[in-house]
Amino acid sequence: MPADAYNRSVKDLRISVTDRCNFRCTYCMPLDQYEWISKKEILTFEEITRLATLFVGLGVEKIRLTGGEPLVRQNLDQLVAKVAAISGLKDLCLTTNGALLAEKIDSLKAAGLKRINISLDTLDPEKFRRMTKRGDLEKVLEGIFAAKDHGLHPIKLNAVIERGVNDDDILELVEFSREHGLAIRFIEYMDVGNSNNWTSEKLVSKAEILEKISSRYPLREIGRDQGSAPSVDYEFIDGRGDLGVIASVTEPFCSSCTRARLTADGKLVTCLFSQMGHDVKALLRNGTSDEDLVKFLSGVWRARRDRYSADRLEAMRSSHYDPKSHKKIEMISLGG
Ligand code: SAM
Ligand code: SF4
Ligand code: SF4
Repeated sequence: MPADAYNRSVKDLRISVTDRCNFRCTYCMPLDQYEWISKKEILTFEEITRLATLFVGLGVEKIRLTGGEPLVRQNLDQLVAKVAAISGLKDLCLTTNGALLAEKIDSLKAAGLKRINISLDTLDPEKFRRMTKRGDLEKVLEGIFAAKDHGLHPIKLNAVIERGVNDDDILELVEFSREHGLAIRFIEYMDVGNSNNWTSEKLVSKAEILEKISSRYPLREIGRDQGSAPSVDYEFIDGRGDLGVIASVTEPFCSSCTRARLTADGKLVTCLFSQMGHDVKALLRNGTSDEDLVKFLSGVWRARRDRYSADRLEAMRSSHYDPKSHKKIEMISLGG
C-alpha cells in the first residue's frame, strides 16, 4: 500500500462519471454554458471498473460515484453493479443532486447500491430554484423519499451553507432531517473551481453553524468516522439522530486526507484543488498492463504533497489569500 510524501495511504476513490449536470448551482458551476468533455474521451464503465479494481488492490476501501451529476450518465446502474462486485471493496456510495433519483432508484438498488448522499441546501422551493438555477425541489424530495422507501441506509443530506443565501435555512434543514431519520452534513462553502466568486465573507464557519443548531438542539461531539473522515459528527443529546459538519476551510483535514479522484476523462487527481491531473486514460487505451498501471498509480500517489486547505488557512490568517491566484480544475470534472 503506497503512502504519499506526508505518510497518507490511499483509502478513498471518488470517481466522476460525467462532467455534465442538470443543475447550475451557483456555488459549483454557475455558468450557463460549459465546454463538455466529448463522449469518446469519457471513460467507459469497463475502464472505470478496471481502474477501481486496481485501486482496491492498492488499499482503497471506499468508492464514491459522483460528478457532475452522476445520474445523468446513462445506465449508471450497470456501473454500480460492476463496482459493487469488486472483491475487497468495503463501501460504495453515490452522491447525487437527487433530481433523477425517484425514477432510477429501482435499478440502482437492484444493482447493489446500499447508501447514498443527496445534496439539499434549502427547503424553500423558490430559493432552491435560485441556488440551482434550474432545479425543482419537489423532484429532489421525491428522490429522497424514494431512496428511503427502498431501504437505502444511511441516507445523508449534504448542505453547502453560504452567508446571506441559505444560512437562515440551517434549523429548518436540521428539523427536516430529524423528522425523517436522515443524517445531514453541513459543508463550509469552499473556493472550488474558478467561477463561483468565493470570498471568505460568504463562508459560514463550522463554529457558527454549530452555535445556531445547538442553541435549539443541544449536541455532543462524536468525532470523525475512523479518525479521517472529512465530517466531524455530532449526536443530538435528545437521542434523535446525528449530524456532521465538513469544515474544509476553518478546520482543514489535509493531514489525514486519503482521497484520490478520477475525472470523467480519466485523469488521476490527488487534491480537490489541484491544477492538473495525471493522464491514466492514455495508458488504459494504449495497452498498458495492469502491472504497469499499478506502478503508475502508486508513483503518482507516492509523490503527492497536497495540503491546499491547510495552506489556505495559514494564508487567510495572514490575509494573503487570493482564491483566484491559483487556477483549479472545475469541481464538476473532478468529482466533489
Ligand atoms: N451533483 C452531485 C451533487 O450535487 O450532489 C454530485 C457532485 S457535487 C460537485 C458533490 C458535492 O460537492 C455536493 O454535495 C455539493 O454540494 C458540493 N459542492 C459543490 N460546490 C461546493 C462548494 N463551492 N463548496 C462546498 N461544497 C460544494
Ligand atoms: Fe451539479 Fe452537483 Fe455542482 Fe450542483 S453541486 S451544479 S448538482 S455537480
Ligand atoms: Fe485533501 Fe486537498 Fe482537501 Fe487537503 S485540500 S483535504 S489534501 S483534497
